[in-house]
Amino acid sequence: MFPVPLVYHKVQDSFELGITTTTLHQFRLQMGYLHRKGYHTLTIEEWFYYFKTRNFPQRSLAITFDDGYESIYRNAFPIMEEYGFVSTVFVVVGFVGKENNWDVNLWGRRSKHLSWRQMKEMATYGHSFQSHTVNHPDLTRLTPPQLEYELGYSKKLLEDKMGEAVEFLACPFGRGNLLTNQVAQKMGYKAVFGQPSEGKKGFLPREGIYLIDTLWNLRQKLGEGRFLWEERVKGRIINFFSRGTPLVKGYRYHR
Ligand SMILES: [Zn+2]
Repeated sequence: MFPVPLVYHKVQDSFELGITTTTLHQFRLQMGYLHRKGYHTLTIEEWFYYFKTRNFPQRSLAITFDDGYESIYRNAFPIMEEYGFVSTVFVVVGFVGKENNWDVNLWGRRSKHLSWRQMKEMATYGHSFQSHTVNHPDLTRLTPPQLEYELGYSKKLLEDKMGEAVEFLACPFGRGNLLTNQVAQKMGYKAVFGQPSEGKKGFLPREGIYLIDTLWNLRQKLGEGRFLWEERVKGRIINFFSRGTPLVKGYRYHR
C-alpha cells in the first residue's frame, strides 16, 4: 500500500459547478483535515523517488492539479500555503495565460489558465509544474508524430520557461496506451500518470477528488478507510463520462 496522489482540477465557487470542481469551502476543509492528521506533502518528483524505493515517509501525500486553471493560483495556492503544503500542477501548455475558448458557461464566463508569471511565483514556494500535453487531446487517438509533438513540445516549453526538469506526464482524460508510454520514454519522461487509480500496466495511478466528495470520501482515497475500491469504481465512471466534456469539445488537431 502506498499513498496514491490526489488529483484536483478547479478550486472555485461559481454558478457552474462541474463534477471536477472543488469549492473553496471543501478545499479548505480537506487541507485542514490533512494538516490536523499530520500529513505533509511531496512534489511528484519526491513521490516518485519514494515510490521507486517503496519506502514512503509516514503520512506523506502528493497533491496534484490537472489542466492548470488560474483558480489554482487564486484559491488553492493561498490555502495550501497556510498549511505549508506544496503541489504538482500538470499544465496544458498550449493554454498558459489564455482563456480557453470552449468552456464558456451560461453567463458567458470563460475559464482562465495560469500565466507563466503565476506559475513562476508558485514555483518559488516549492510547487512543481509538469506536462499535461500541449492541447489536451485523447492520446490514444494520435499518430506517433502527433504524440511526439504533444509530449515533446510541452516538455521542452515548460523546461525553457520554468528552468526545471519536466519528467512526468499526466494523460488527458487519464487515457493512454502502449504507444503513449513508448513515446513518453523516448521524449525523456520518467513516468506517466493515468487515471483512474488502478491504471493499466505502465501507468501510475492517481485518485480524483470531485465535487461530491466529502471528508469521508477523502479518507477512503487516502487509504484510511475500508472503501477505497468503491472510490475507484466511482472514479472510473466519472472519468468515462468526462471524456465528452469541455476540454475535448472544439478540439481539432492542427498539426
Ligand atoms: Zn485534463
